[in-house]
Amino acid sequence: MIEADRMRVSVIGTGYLGATTAACLAELGFEVLGLDVDEAKIEMLRSGRVPFFEPGLEDLVVSGLESGRLRFTTSFAEVAEFADLHLICVGTPQKDESGAADLSYVNSAVDRLAPHLSRPAVVVGRSTVPVGTAATLAARLAALAPAGEEAELGWSPEFLREGFGVEDTLRPDRIVLGTDSPRVEKAVRALWHKQIDGGVPFLVTDLQTAELVKVAANAFLATKISFINAMAEVSEVAGADVIQLAQALSYDDRIGGKFLGPGLGFGGGCLPKDIRAFMARADELGVEPALSFLREVDAINQRRRARTIDIARQLIGGGFAGSRVAVLGAAFKPNSDDIRDSPALDVAATIASLGAQVTVYDPAALERARAAHPELNYADSMRGAVTDADVVLLLTEWAEFREADPDELGRLVARKRIVDGRNALDPTFWRASGWTYRALGRQ
Ligand code: NAD
Repeated sequence: MIEADRMRVSVIGTGYLGATTAACLAELGFEVLGLDVDEAKIEMLRSGRVPFFEPGLEDLVVSGLESGRLRFTTSFAEVAEFADLHLICVGTPQKDESGAADLSYVNSAVDRLAPHLSRPAVVVGRSTVPVGTAATLAARLAALAPAGEEAELGWSPEFLREGFGVEDTLRPDRIVLGTDSPRVEKAVRALWHKQIDGGVPFLVTDLQTAELVKVAANAFLATKISFINAMAEVSEVAGADVIQLAQALSYDDRIGGKFLGPGLGFGGGCLPKDIRAFMARADELGVEPALSFLREVDAINQRRRARTIDIARQLIGGGFAGSRVAVLGAAFKPNSDDIRDSPALDVAATIASLGAQVTVYDPAALERARAAHPELNYADSMRGAVTDADVVLLLTEWAEFREADPDELGRLVARKRIVDGRNALDPTFWRASGWTYRALGRQ
């Protein structure tokens, strides 16, 4: 039997989700061994450096290493020998144009771990997967592991938000576990006993429901964002103000104000690929019509990018050729350096392809942006980016940009024109400083 305090945990895949999970579990007192197939990533983590930007995480990694409770490896044999509970946190990116999820990483994690499981073990998936994946993996695990049926698999999707990863892992809204095995349930209860004792709801479901909870949550969030962005489209034409509209809606507590911010829309490594994978899976299951609305959710989201570019084009009075454009933001959202499907970089790259000289600044994501888009120019400060610009585009709502001084920036630019792609600024304030201010969904 596994005792909570002595349970040893492996975390397979040490990206955003896995590294955060591993460091938080060590902080909670577990002995944790993180594994990744990327040797460079493991080397960095071993030396106490986190390969991405996540507030508070590096301190936890360092204290985990110092306490001896957190270690890293690239050996599946070592994690199998070490741990009683294995958490699978590898990526499930979009595979191709079909939108389906690429399951090769989760399959490979199970295939490489299983042959080393010669004693009873619990394997719990945390990655976001299409419904039906976990049942297939459970059978694969039992077939490949020397322990056979004693190597059991459950699924416990993770809901953390990048930028709040540590906080969300230590104090989740809820814990969902798909399993019908008392042993799997006992191990996962032991893992989160402090949270469960502290009142965090713990829901045990079948595998399919657990898988669906995660994609349904992301589909709902994406729909909410695209809903208000659809209202922004209408407001622009009808002469209304979507910010006031959203505010008025938010007072209805059946609707609520969160995820109701109109702007450039969603991006990142989760929402876009998760809704597409959900649609692809529904198609395979023959229930495509049930999710056809998500196609529109995706389309509304993409249209906001095109609209932002149109507004910038109007402001500079025609074509982009020869113009200088400053882009504030590269990460898909503030407090992150994640540029996966970043709306800001997508807009910046499109404008550059139309002939503008685009200079990008971001407080955390410059290095990643440079590697992904070498055709763009980069500045090391907001001031550097806007100097001599014909138009400024605010595309990621970092606090630094929200708090920018329009008088100060006004002295640096060639023309005082700004597109507020995130409705992050006070138009009155900026207009009073002489700027031509445009935003999505407002006059
Ligand atoms: P990521 O790309 O940052 O990390 C994935 C890691 O898995 C990489 O370091 C990669 O080298 C490693 N990996 C790949 N194949 C492996 C294998 N066979 N064995 C061991 N390691 C392997 O991705 P992420 O953002 O951490 O996302 C991981 C999963 O978690 C995805 O399914 C994602 O949808 C889900 N998720 C992510 C977040 C988030 O905020 N990033 C939140 C909730 C859920």
